[in-house]
Amino acid sequence: MLYKILNGVKTHAPASRTDLINFAEKNKAILVAINAEKILHATPESRQIINRNLGYPDGIGAVWALHKKGCKDVVKIPGCELWLDIVGRYYQDKTFYLVGGKEAVIQETVTKLKARFPGIKILNYRNGYIKTATEKNALLQDVTLKKPDIVFVALGSPKQELLMEEMQRLHPALYQGLGGSFDVFTG
Ligand code: UDP
Repeated sequence: MLYKILNGVKTHAPASRTDLINFAEKNKAILVAINAEKILHATPESRQIINRNLGYPDGIGAVWALHKKGCKDVVKIPGCELWLDIVGRYYQDKTFYLVGGKEAVIQETVTKLKARFPGIKILNYRNGYIKTATEKNALLQDVTLKKPDIVFVALGSPKQELLMEEMQRLHPALYQGLGGSFDVFTG
């Protein structure tokens, strides 16, 4: 897929959501939302993290910047909608794992997903407050054991990207970082 470097930040230019989902699934990528703030306030560390993964334009600022660089067909893909598109596309034949948010939020997220996508296979989930190395190792072990096809991680950046990279090394899958999307989903 076409991409441009915006202030050192590698940002892909999908022509549609389907395009992005297909590419991410095929490459077992980690999807990272890119907005104007992440471009303008990029640090050497944040650039490295994004550039190792699949950055896509989640905000209009990123879309404008891609336009200016010649990507005329690019569309904005809000991360808080993208993850639900991914669920809709794959819930009948792939398995899911969710990490992030407060305990009540993740529980409600799972309840709502099961109601909206009957038969969805959520192999496990946990809140995003991972306080000790023991807790983190237990999570990594569980993901490795259960082998989900798709993993959503909502802790905010760069925490979620770093955790997804650790998971990805142990268990290749499609990953998406979600920030506050579980909060948005549960209202
Ligand atoms: N969060 C979490 N663990 C943490 C810190 C934050 O699960 O250690 C959750 C928090 O409950 C919220 C989300 O991560 O749901 C962070 O959302 P924020 O809006 O800060 O992320 P952004 O969308 O700005 O990246």
